[in-house]
Amino acid sequence: MSKIIYITRKIPEAGLKLLRDKKIEFDMGTSSTPPTKKEIIKQLKKKQYDGVISFLTDPIDKEVFDVCPNVKIFANFSVGFNNVDLEEAQKRGIEVSNTPGTSATAVAEHTVAFMLTLTTRIDEGDRFMRKGKYKGWDPDLLIGTDLKGKTIGLIGVGQIGTEVAKILHYGFGSNIIYSDICTNPTLEQIIGPTRKETAEVLREADIVSLHVPLLPSTQHLINKESLATMKKTAFLINTSRGAVIDEKALVYALKNNVIKGAAIDVYEFEPKLSPGLSKLSNVVLTPHIASARESARNLMAEIAAKNIISVLENGKAINSVYPKSTC
Ligand code: NAD
Repeated sequence: MSKIIYITRKIPEAGLKLLRDKKIEFDMGTSSTPPTKKEIIKQLKKKQYDGVISFLTDPIDKEVFDVCPNVKIFANFSVGFNNVDLEEAQKRGIEVSNTPGTSATAVAEHTVAFMLTLTTRIDEGDRFMRKGKYKGWDPDLLIGTDLKGKTIGLIGVGQIGTEVAKILHYGFGSNIIYSDICTNPTLEQIIGPTRKETAEVLREADIVSLHVPLLPSTQHLINKESLATMKKTAFLINTSRGAVIDEKALVYALKNNVIKGAAIDVYEFEPKLSPGLSKLSNVVLTPHIASARESARNLMAEIAAKNIISVLENGKAINSVYPKSTC
């Protein structure tokens, strides 16, 4: 019998081709803005869909599962999957997959670009020039800091954190320390045995960069108390998920020089920003674009489609997100 899936937003042709080759039909959203849960439910009620390709902006929960009893998989078009109520999905025997590793290069490069932006003050220099403020060379103007030789603290060293560590180790000779629920032996072969408690990483690092998934254990990992333990001269980078940081506490810390600066790609109440955040001059903000590369998007589309095909053909996702034995 022919199969049909719902794709909540447009995905690249690379993934659609794989579905067509398998004669899997699809209905695909066309809006450039995320559909609301109501819109997703409305579409799911229209047909007996067998699967869904969902996005990190789609809230997938009990109410959604209730209207699509035939759906066997939600294949998320992203590495993160905190938009899906996993407990409820697992209870109902619904597969959930993600696209691991597809954006490690892109996100790692964006992270290092953030570090360089903060240490070199390129963004401030650009704004200064455009405002016509440049009146001639000044030895005291926009003094930055070296990235070389700094201690970089990575919280989470999976695919992305590991790539960041490699770029910094080989390219900048940085001293890297990390915290993770698991030791990373492959990384330690390169940088040495530098795994520490998160509290130590926060205390010792000149730049702290977050690369953990958003889980109950990582929500507000960075809060008023933990920010207060960081160096006054430290920078904080977040390309993971917004709610890993208590954004209100971050605004306070940046405003009151608890830390020196921050660079953020993801937001606690995305797409909204916490009051005051965009007014601060010691924060660099990008609109969740760390993985925005054609190469990454094509790969994400292919992997999402392959997970759909795998579940519809043999009942198992290739990249199931359900917890495996840790470490
Ligand atoms: P990954 O699963 O390879 O690595 C996550 C690491 O975090 C693992 O090593 C894991 O052991 C560790 N971890 C889990 N819980 C922890 C905890 N409580 N404390 C310390 N470490 C913990 O994932 P990845 O590919 O490196 O991606 C990391 C996150 O980055 C994703 O979950 C996603 O939310 C985010 N991401 C953002 C973008 C973007 O566009 N900004 C793109 C891709 C991924």
